[in-house]
Amino acid sequence: MNHGSRIAVGAMLAVCVAVPLFAPQFWVTLGNYIGLYSIVALGLVLLTGVAGQTSFGQAAFVGLGAYTTAYLTTRYGTSPWATLGLGLALTAAMALFIGFITLRMKGHYLPLATIAWGISLYYVFGNLEILGGHTGMTGIPALAIGDFELKDERRYYFLIWAIALAALWSTRNLLDSRPGRAIRALKGGFEMAEAFGVDGARLKIVVFVYAALLACVSGWLYAHLQRFVNPTPFGINQGIEYLFMAVVGGAGSVWGAVLGATLITLLKELLQDVLPVLLGRTGNFELVVFGILMVLLLQFAREGLWPWIARLVPRSRPPPLAEQPPLPARDRTPPAGPMLAVRAARKQFGGLVAVNDLTFDLRCGEILGLIGPNGAGKSTTFALISGALTLTSGEVLLRGESIGSRPPFEIARRGLGRTFQHVRLIAQMSVLDNVALGAYLRGTSGVARAAARLDRAEEARTKAEAARAIARVGLSAHLHDAAGSLPLGKQRIVEIARALAADPALLLLDEPAAGLRYLEKQELAALLRSLKAEGMTILLVEHDMDFVMGVTDRLVVMNFGEKLAEGLPAEIQRDPAVREAYLGGAV
Ligand code: ADP
Ligand code: MG
Repeated sequence: MNHGSRIAVGAMLAVCVAVPLFAPQFWVTLGNYIGLYSIVALGLVLLTGVAGQTSFGQAAFVGLGAYTTAYLTTRYGTSPWATLGLGLALTAAMALFIGFITLRMKGHYLPLATIAWGISLYYVFGNLEILGGHTGMTGIPALAIGDFELKDERRYYFLIWAIALAALWSTRNLLDSRPGRAIRALKGGFEMAEAFGVDGARLKIVVFVYAALLACVSGWLYAHLQRFVNPTPFGINQGIEYLFMAVVGGAGSVWGAVLGATLITLLKELLQDVLPVLLGRTGNFELVVFGILMVLLLQFAREGLWPWIARLVPRSRPPPLAEQPPLPARDRTPPAGPMLAVRAARKQFGGLVAVNDLTFDLRCGEILGLIGPNGAGKSTTFALISGALTLTSGEVLLRGESIGSRPPFEIARRGLGRTFQHVRLIAQMSVLDNVALGAYLRGTSGVARAAARLDRAEEARTKAEAARAIARVGLSAHLHDAAGSLPLGKQRIVEIARALAADPALLLLDEPAAGLRYLEKQELAALLRSLKAEGMTILLVEHDMDFVMGVTDRLVVMNFGEKLAEGLPAEIQRDPAVREAYLGGAV
């Protein structure tokens, strides 16, 4: 942290501490609620803002935390600290259950399931006599730390904010880590993350559980603050409000959660005073205002308000990277047979045979070009090798081991590194962090380690490894630039560096020259030659005939899903059948 942001954080902490000491009761109460809401919104910043998964059901998880402790402490006199553990266990089980039934499905199943979960739990709370029905439960004991009772709201404030700050700290740690980079990569589908070995469906569930646990903690705190619970604050309305807080604050930083919780709480307070006077009657009109604000925000400030505030705080300079020992490397003994063997691979889309029993080998240390006119089946072949599509029949072997129809993250684990035809970088993240994502499989730190910041040694090695991959492709000058700020040609090279950071046995490049200018193509060709000189095996799927001629050892030509020819570039160039098909006989 630099001087500027230290002052900013220091000033904020000073305000936080001053509120319970000097402010009137009303502000202490508001401060408490803002803290409670921030904890829930924080989970949503991670889940919705960063990972791109919407949940309307967070209020129900808050309710689960609140009701668990309300019921057990009033009925059985269980210690509140024990009920916290039980509530967390119950919440984790519930979130895992919802996660497992919805998260493997594509589309809007998670938001829908969370709405259903939110509504049904609300009615469970309301209709169960043992939970006090709609009138709720009273007599919840105050929290005590030893003999020190937290009955007073001013004292309770410190507990709420200590927990909120701890949650902010660990979530911030998490975002800046191996699993954190993988979580960022989930937004917009699993394909990119899985190419680096991330089990997308599993990670999504982990994030969902993390967010649910934060909500549960907030609920537990709430129950012991109010000393009374009823179903109202845990309904779907509140679930939408939590989501609104996360969206308003923004996903750029964990502080967006605090900002969103503060703004919405203050605004609601204001609107509840002002709207009845303006409209001459009472009702939940603030919800209408919130709805309108939400639409405006999504139109004009998709990233939320935090980025605007962040601009006022001077950016801290990233620390220089220290020399580090390399991460564990792959066993490089060449396989007895070919590096990659495609055996009668077939893919049918209904009646259309996109790839028709294609067979070819890729030898160790070779650059093979897979070329053909548009619609020949190159991308489909690429997808069959990388695992994005499953084979209709046939087989694909990597280093002699069958990888056909396996999920992409398992194929990545066996040594396949790839780039994307349409560049898939995380635009706001630095080049360094983007490339570090490539080294995902070479690290082991999980969510818990990262959140507790116990991963720093491995993290430093990962960053150093990423910096070496970036140096290898000649982009060291852009280490700390946002990946999205680079021109397309450089972004494609960043993708190659990211694939190299995985220490792949085989590099699969999908139309790397598409959209590049002449000079950029030459730079790319030089890079591919130098990688080959270092012993890398590369499969290049390419449409650009001139480009492949200069860099490949051999070519496989496809047409209408079939192999039309195979041979040295010079032979292929002379082959009349290839000229006929590929060039339309024009040359
Ligand atoms: P290339 O990459 O060589 O241009 P593709 O592999 O993209 O060719 O496509 C081969 C054929 O398969 C084309 O006729 C294309 O329309 C068809 N195809 C590709 N993907 C699908 C899909 N998901 N569903 C149906 N048809 C597809
Ligand atoms: Mg294609």
